[in-house]
Amino acid sequence: MPPIRKLQWIELSQKALHKNILSLTNLAPNKIFAACVKSNAYGHGISEMVTILKENRRVNYLTVHSMREAIKCRRAGWRKQILLLGPVELCDTDAILEFDIEPIVFNTQFLDNIGKQADKFNRTVKTHIKLETGTNRQGITEKDIPKFAKVYKKYKSLGKPYGASTHFANIEDTTNHSYAEYQLEQFKKLLKVMAAHDIAPKIKHTASSAATILFGKTHFDMVRPGISLYGYWPSKETYLSHKLEGGKNNLFKPVLTWKSRITQLKKLEPDSFISYGCTYQTTAKSKIGIIPVGYYDGYDRALSNKAYVLINGKRAPIRGRVCMNLMMADISDIPKVKLENEVTLIGKENKEELSANRIAEWADTINYEILARLSGEIYREIVL
Ligand SMILES: *Cc1c(COP(=O)(O)O)cnc(C)c1O
Repeated sequence: MPPIRKLQWIELSQKALHKNILSLTNLAPNKIFAACVKSNAYGHGISEMVTILKENRRVNYLTVHSMREAIKCRRAGWRKQILLLGPVELCDTDAILEFDIEPIVFNTQFLDNIGKQADKFNRTVKTHIKLETGTNRQGITEKDIPKFAKVYKKYKSLGKPYGASTHFANIEDTTNHSYAEYQLEQFKKLLKVMAAHDIAPKIKHTASSAATILFGKTHFDMVRPGISLYGYWPSKETYLSHKLEGGKNNLFKPVLTWKSRITQLKKLEPDSFISYGCTYQTTAKSKIGIIPVGYYDGYDRALSNKAYVLINGKRAPIRGRVCMNLMMADISDIPKVKLENEVTLIGKENKEELSANRIAEWADTINYEILARLSGEIYREIVL
């Protein structure tokens, strides 16, 4: 048995990450490759992921959601470009300059503040304009463009926008991509308006994972995939669309494995209740293993009485409610379970694979949420 490191830990496979990057860069050859490490690198651990990503020469950019995440990337030793996708406080222009971050802009006030500050220190800033094409989230519309053009012209430090981008609303959830086609047309139309106002961007980018995998025409100069980097398809529909077009299998391999250990073994009589609310009652003599993982760690309470974990390569059903820090698995039919026996919550044991997709189905959500909500407190380890 390996030495006890922690009662709960996450293993991150470098090999899987590099394989996924290779698959994605083959799908989008000769494009700038931006790895999305927002939300603690989709729950994988941002500093650990940056540590691995630094070693891959195919990765040119990181994308993050917040300034805090951008700073974490710098602290983990990332020296190349960082694109900040989310909002920044209007006054947080020092950090943009100090950490050399490229913000997405969608407010003239913010752009004005950056221009002012950067001019003062004789610096240049690369900004990316977010264009509204129909997702109706962050982004500017056609009538906002002249106002932005004015601000760009006002400050030497801004020059022209470095990038222009948009984000699709309906690629993952369907095999019908007409709305994406519509958004693509809108994007091209807005680019023309930008050019007419003499603020044509140097690079254009629109593609998340699904667009990177399915639509070459969304790649433009750069792709910015997230979920597929971590070895997961954005959805069943994306996988089906890819297969229908004769795409290759085995493009991606999950990077993350989540493990724990059994900290108590217990024999129960028939008719015993398990956990809060007495939602589970044994029907026969049973054996359970106590696992020190709960919803605090990101194991959704909706998985109570639904999920299973893997123990010695076999499925062990979760009995009763998932607690804040503990849960119980039925090991009645699994031979040779010992105290401190390993348990796999996400990952593979022998031929059994328990993916974030399956857990997402049980919890009535998507693989993104299962991964992104893994607690940042869990011990993480980079493995081969
Ligand atoms: C999160 C995000 C991505 C990555 O999306 P995936 O579906 O995980 O590949 C790309 N672009 C923007 C703007 C995002 O917010």
